[in-house]
Amino acid sequence: MDLIHAPFVPGVIQTTVDQVINWSRKSSLWYMLYGIACCSIEMMATGASRYDFDRFGLIYRGSPRQSDLMLVTGNVNLKMAKVLKQLYDQMAEPKWVIAVGSCAVSGGPFRGSYNMVDGVDQVVPVDVYLPGCPPRPEALLDAVLKLQRKIMRPQRQGVAS
Ligand code: SF4
Repeated sequence: MDLIHAPFVPGVIQTTVDQVINWSRKSSLWYMLYGIACCSIEMMATGASRYDFDRFGLIYRGSPRQSDLMLVTGNVNLKMAKVLKQLYDQMAEPKWVIAVGSCAVSGGPFRGSYNMVDGVDQVVPVDVYLPGCPPRPEALLDAVLKLQRKIMRPQRQGVAS
């Protein structure tokens, strides 16, 4: 749904409070500075000047308490899973998670290993899955745009998204 609702009357904008709040949320996603493995290099490249996360309102934060987006950029082992869950629990509500790369999505090349988590959705809820080993910065930007569209969707009670 668009931010501005029809019917259009010249000089008048019609919308809802929910739409304005969601628009402000999707336009100021603060992601936690947290990298686990090689996909983190792609995250850093996306945040740097060539791809420039800032254009989309994404600013990294050094504390989970100031973050509302977690980019899981790498393979999660069982030892790190506890830390990841603790960081997620400390993040501000509402919060979102993007699983970046095959390792975070499903375990990737390490799937089935004795000490690996086969997908970060076994630890925290995931909003967008981004496969690839590693996914390029353009793909990460596309995943963020998908998340922004999801945030703008009206919430429907009792219906899985
Ligand atoms: S998906 Fe590939 S590049 Fe990303 S963390 Fe796993 S092995 Fe590294």
